[in-house]
Amino acid sequence: MLQAVLEKPKTIVFHEIPIPEPGKDEVLLKVSRIGICGSDIHVYHGKHKYATLPVVQGHEGSGVIAKAGSEVSGLMIGEKVTIRPQLFCKECIMCRKGRYNLCLDYKVIGVLGSTTGMASEYFLIKASLVHKLPQGITLDQGAMVEPAAVAVHSVKLGAAPVGNKTLVVGAGPVGNLVAQAAKALGAEKVIIVDISQERLELAKKCGVDICVNSRDRSLADIIAEHFGSDGADVILDCAGAPVLVEQMVHAARRGTNIVLTGNYYDKVPVELGLVQRREINLVGVMNYLAEDYEDTIRFIARGDMKVDPLISTYFDIKDYNEAYQYIDENMAKVMKVLIKVVIDRTLLTSNQE
Ligand SMILES: [Zn+2]
Ligand SMILES: [Zn+2]
Repeated sequence: MLQAVLEKPKTIVFHEIPIPEPGKDEVLLKVSRIGICGSDIHVYHGKHKYATLPVVQGHEGSGVIAKAGSEVSGLMIGEKVTIRPQLFCKECIMCRKGRYNLCLDYKVIGVLGSTTGMASEYFLIKASLVHKLPQGITLDQGAMVEPAAVAVHSVKLGAAPVGNKTLVVGAGPVGNLVAQAAKALGAEKVIIVDISQERLELAKKCGVDICVNSRDRSLADIIAEHFGSDGADVILDCAGAPVLVEQMVHAARRGTNIVLTGNYYDKVPVELGLVQRREINLVGVMNYLAEDYEDTIRFIARGDMKVDPLISTYFDIKDYNEAYQYIDENMAKVMKVLIKVVIDRTLLTSNQE
């Protein structure tokens, strides 16, 4: 089978390797779609803090069960699934508390060098990390579950004790999904801000109530206009820009929850005195839990979260490098690029006989 290996920055090469056999608690997937996200882009350019090369990328994706190990139950050959790409020890303090997304030995499959992602024709994974896609969910949508689950997890962590007027900062793929997740989880009013009109229009198309261009306006001003003197109960940062975090703290009301979903590559200056006096909760977000996946899949199936409008374009797996080139050249407008892995039915048939 074909495997795409990121050998050095900006260089994905293709190897022909044998199709792996599932162990007793594993399944073999025929890979269908792989999403490229912000952290993949950083890894591709050799700019990710914790990633080492070579690495086989691909942590957002969908496929079809091609083979299952002897102890796997409840998953059938030919079923459409998505993967939850998290490895954890099950023994450390955080795993024992059920917060395995914070495992002390946590790994994201396909991001860190010692793991192998989905960027190949077939992919081996523990059955416990596979989620079924119900009838009516497409393989495209299946590849969007991972980023959408980050959004759902973020909104749950930010759940405010008082009210649920929500401000989402940044309307890129993550911000868009966070705003939709907030609505799906019951927020009464959601504002999303960005400086890209294109991204704001897309958010509107996805059903977000209030889409505001923040180019010439402060967050405090936008909150005052749309939420009045009650202010925002929750502010979710999906931009990761230090200057905006500072603004968020100033724009927060007493008791506002500020959720940090964005990635911060620089130190962020924040006026902690305000955090203290206003009892502002600054909440970090790391990935998701299995139940966030199940909620996300349900939201997508019901149409409460619309992921199709976020798919910008597709590239064949053989054109993986070109996909990154396209992203680099269209950074301002690109949302989600999906890699298509063409389905070959031969293994499926031989296995079903
Ligand atoms: Zn991702
Ligand atoms: Zn652990």
